Amino acid sequence: MNKLRIAIQKSGRLSEKSLKLLDDCGISISNGNRTLLASGKNFPVEILYLRDDDIPGYIEDGVADVGILGENIVLEKSTQLDIISRLGFARCRMSLAIPRNEEYTGPDYLQGKRIATTYPRILQNFLDEKNIQADIHEILGSVEIAPSIGLSGAIFDIVSTGSTLLSNGLKEVEVVMKSEAVLVSRKDLDTEKQEILDKLLFRLNSVMKARTNRYVLLNAPNNNLDKIINIIPGMKSPTVVPLAEEGWSAVHSVISEDRFWEVIDELKEAGAQGLLVIPIEKMVS
Ligand code: ATP
Ligand code: MG
Repeated sequence: MNKLRIAIQKSGRLSEKSLKLLDDCGISISNGNRTLLASGKNFPVEILYLRDDDIPGYIEDGVADVGILGENIVLEKSTQLDIISRLGFARCRMSLAIPRNEEYTGPDYLQGKRIATTYPRILQNFLDEKNIQADIHEILGSVEIAPSIGLSGAIFDIVSTGSTLLSNGLKEVEVVMKSEAVLVSRKDLDTEKQEILDKLLFRLNSVMKARTNRYVLLNAPNNNLDKIINIIPGMKSPTVVPLAEEGWSAVHSVISEDRFWEVIDELKEAGAQGLLVIPIEKMVS
């Protein structure tokens, strides 16, 4: 039988989370020690372990069908792949940085400057958009030290917390793009592989949704039930069950994690007590 071949990063920032995501989708992989190719035990997939930079090429050549990698790598390496799902991890931004003591006057500052980067294509697109002529100097690593050794006047690189920039005497001046891990696919999958991918996507969506939502339980005084139900309306509507104590009910609902922190004070003001917030494993609506 046909199997869908999924390329993931062999070792690096994306590896563990990619495997965890597949595992949460109920796909267990027969081979734990990451030889080049492993088989899914209970789902028709094969896992190909690669360097992240190689994943777009392998998919375009048809050696792999889909892949999990950073959006930054997709944009740098390929225009022919479809991003079919955003996966919510490995978040970072791609930014321009200059020496901290320089005054940044806007993109024009970069006119005629030399900029060191591992991502010449994304940078070139940005410069074209802004009508800037600059000299892109491609290097493969340690981009952040380029200005201090006199190699370039600016850099374009991945930033997550900014501490690497800071410790190299640089400041971030333009965020060119935001990136997270994505699932990409070849455009011309055969019907059988497309069906497997559709099943995988269904599972992925229910896992992703579950990750960003929480199950909330609380006790509410009956005279304020309507107000509380309004604050946490849930998937369809909350479950309300009477407590043994007269005049009180238990309310069960689902809420996005971000929203929970926004409404917690409102809930307490409305008299809610004994709030419990529980992670959800899968969510299918
Ligand atoms: P490989 O050996 O597979 O080529 P790599 O060293 O190029 O790995 P990693 O450092 O593992 O790559 O990063 C993989 C991806 O993780 C990046 O392309 C980016 O999308 C994302 N990422 C998130 N935060 C960061 C960060 N602080 N630094 C680097 N990459 C990050
Ligand atoms: Mg790489």
